[in-house]
Amino acid sequence: MPDIRSFSNRTLILLSNREPYEHRHGEMGIDVRRPPGGLVTALDPTMQATDGVWVAWGSGSADAEMADHEGRLRVPPGEDGFTLRRVFLTDAEVDGYYMGFSNRSLWPLCHMLVQHFEYRTDYWNMYQEVNAKFAHAVADEVRRSPQKPIVWIQDYHFALAAEMLRELAVPALIHQFWHIPFPPADILRLLPTGVDEALLRGLLGNDLVEFHTERYALNFLGCVAELVPEAEIDADTLAVHYDGRRIDVGIFPISIDVERYEQLASTPESTALVERLRKRYASNGQRLGLGVDRVDYTKGIPERLRALCELWERHPEMRETFTFLLVATPSRSELPAYRALEEEMLATVIEINERFKTETWHPIVLVHENVSADMLAGAYRAADLCLISSLQDGMNLVAKEFIACQTEERGVLVLSRFAGASEEIDGAVLINPFNLDGFVEGIRRALHMSEGERRVRMHRMRRQLHDRTIFDWLAAVLTRAQDIIAEREPESGVA
Ligand code: UDP
Repeated sequence: MPDIRSFSNRTLILLSNREPYEHRHGEMGIDVRRPPGGLVTALDPTMQATDGVWVAWGSGSADAEMADHEGRLRVPPGEDGFTLRRVFLTDAEVDGYYMGFSNRSLWPLCHMLVQHFEYRTDYWNMYQEVNAKFAHAVADEVRRSPQKPIVWIQDYHFALAAEMLRELAVPALIHQFWHIPFPPADILRLLPTGVDEALLRGLLGNDLVEFHTERYALNFLGCVAELVPEAEIDADTLAVHYDGRRIDVGIFPISIDVERYEQLASTPESTALVERLRKRYASNGQRLGLGVDRVDYTKGIPERLRALCELWERHPEMRETFTFLLVATPSRSELPAYRALEEEMLATVIEINERFKTETWHPIVLVHENVSADMLAGAYRAADLCLISSLQDGMNLVAKEFIACQTEERGVLVLSRFAGASEEIDGAVLINPFNLDGFVEGIRRALHMSEGERRVRMHRMRRQLHDRTIFDWLAAVLTRAQDIIAEREPESGVA
């Protein structure tokens, strides 16, 4: 694991929409919850080593009472690691900034699924206001910081924050990780004229903008070239010259805590789950397929179900010999598009099961709830095949979790070429979820792959993954930020 202590000469001030610790009123009093996902876990030690400040939306019902009058508290709860600064939002702000512009406008737009794109002036106005609110909180934390800080903004909820921080003359290096795809200009231009440009100018407030893949970085540069007239692009070094400054664009594919997933997959509980699943679904030459997603229209769940249906239709020998475990976690169900997708998914699963089921076998086993990481690890290890059919996906961490948990190296990863992970992982069977026949063939190929080839591919992917964990990702991003500071010192004033 890279040594994060080398970053401790600067305070890290992090801005994200989700907070690392959320307090909620529960039946037994106040509970503290950590959002799932490796990012928080990976950042915790760095935040502690740099005595950092994490600025985020205070979304929990008991968040205000657990913080001081400025929304600040020390975390992890009961420890004195770093400061969490909660910014509280009204219902109208959450509706406009989060549910509205972030999730109904930017999310579908960046995933290039324009049929889901909705724009309202109210959403945009609230997004600007809320970005300003967070920028002021960050600026306040920079002012308080006893050390020279680095500001690191996370994601598409804060496209305008960097420029606002610059207007507030914040003396810090500012960088931002964009966790979702970045669309080409023809798609970004679906926003009203001026709003597209404002988003880009907002991002150009950073000193460094980070993406998962070269494709997203080039899309961003293409958008800037087309929509920000005075900006100059340096395509060779991936940089923009704008407003008398140089903005670097970096490519840093995110990853997972590989060892943790390996360990989760090897606990006695996981091993027992693997044995149960394999006995039930994968004995006597039968095969078990697995899908794990939030129910989101970016994940290609209807396309996957269609391909599976076609597989059982065209290849009757796959009936009773191939079972698909679909872990589909409810998500964003406040939004109509997500409710409609959920209904479609439930109806299709029933339809497929009715069509092909026998007395002893159902083709699809649906788990329609949030499953914990340790249970998922057992399922990943047990599966003969993991199917990822995203129509667009920034990275897709499920792909990496599956690889990490495949300790017996028996399974095949069938991966959409529209997931960022496909540009990095070498060893998956790539499919195009829009090409039904090719998709069906991809699944068939995976199911017929020889044991030797499966092992060689999985072994290769596991080796790659070990060299690129979330800690390597974090170290690479922070090192790049440090390098930029070093290059610009002493004349830039960011030092
Ligand atoms: N996940 C989970 N329980 C579930 C389904 C998913 O913990 O029931 C986790 C999964 O392990 C992964 C994350 O949710 O870490 C999904 O990340 P991914 O990058 O695949 O997609 P996203 O949901 O961020 O679009």
